[in-house]
Amino acid sequence: MTLLLKAQPLLDRRIPELQAKCNLLKTQGVHPKLVVVLVGDNPASISYVTNKKRLCEKVGAAFEIKQLPPTTTSQQFLTLLKEINLDRSVHGCIIQLPVYGESTKLRLETLVDPIKDVDGFHPDNTSSLYLGRISEHSLLPCTPKGVMSLLKHYQIDVKGKNAVVIGRSQIVGKPMSLLLNLAGATVTMCHSGTVNLAEHTQRADIVVSAVGKIDLLTARHFDAKRKTIVIDVGMNKNEQGKLVGDCDFRSITPVVGAITPVPGGVGPMTVLSLIENLLTAAQNQKDL
Ligand code: NAP
Repeated sequence: MTLLLKAQPLLDRRIPELQAKCNLLKTQGVHPKLVVVLVGDNPASISYVTNKKRLCEKVGAAFEIKQLPPTTTSQQFLTLLKEINLDRSVHGCIIQLPVYGESTKLRLETLVDPIKDVDGFHPDNTSSLYLGRISEHSLLPCTPKGVMSLLKHYQIDVKGKNAVVIGRSQIVGKPMSLLLNLAGATVTMCHSGTVNLAEHTQRADIVVSAVGKIDLLTARHFDAKRKTIVIDVGMNKNEQGKLVGDCDFRSITPVVGAITPVPGGVGPMTVLSLIENLLTAAQNQKDL
């Protein structure tokens, strides 16, 4: 029987814990607040931001969107970021991607103060991950952090396992490989230049796909005897406009040990990790 790695049971457990943590911070005079900088009105970005707002407010944190027109100049963008970084009532800030216009030319990952960088993209935060210097105070990239939480929740020990990460982006693939490596897995990173992807996935105990291609992985990519754990990070719209991952879910499910559904798997874990990072950032700033 294939295990479905749904996010909901973990959300049900974590949300009350986060509400309690947020309340405690408030009794200590800190009201955690997240600011999202949004350029333009891309419908997908607005939907992601809405999910972030919902969970933020559910745990009791404050939330604000700073929405800018696509005509915003680099200077206006930098001025806003400076204001946010200096505002002591703001504990976390993210720049919702993609941005448009002149903002695309900026080194966005360097603009949020590392102590408020709840996406975990600032070079100070990524270098801690690279150096393996991570602790409960670290602000880790949300999607890989969420995947690690999901694996832990389902008691999937990664130590000594062969893990294959497909995709090597700064926001998912690379930090995912580093976190799995730090947790003791033997990690193979695959990408668009990988020759014979199936040869790698068939030998894997854990496969994380973060590519963005419908049906990239099908039953032929897995050896049923291995009972591989499959984490599908991909978010794609199919021809019917339905959200699907990188996996051909129907053909893969019978030949693997466990798989994340899309939607309902990694997506909600990413939002949960963001709120966890926000409360960590608020606590870190209080303790400064
Ligand atoms: P990205 O920056 O476009 O990176 C995609 C990666 O996939 C690249 O490293 C690319 O290799 C690799 N790739 C492309 N075609 C490939 C192929 N045929 N075989 C193997 N590797 C291939 O994308 P991203 O930002 O990491 O996002 C990846 C997916 O995850 C997207 O669907 C995105 O929407 C989704 N996502 C989901 C969440 C969530 O919360 N669920 C969060 C973030 C992203 P090269 O480096 O060689 O080009």
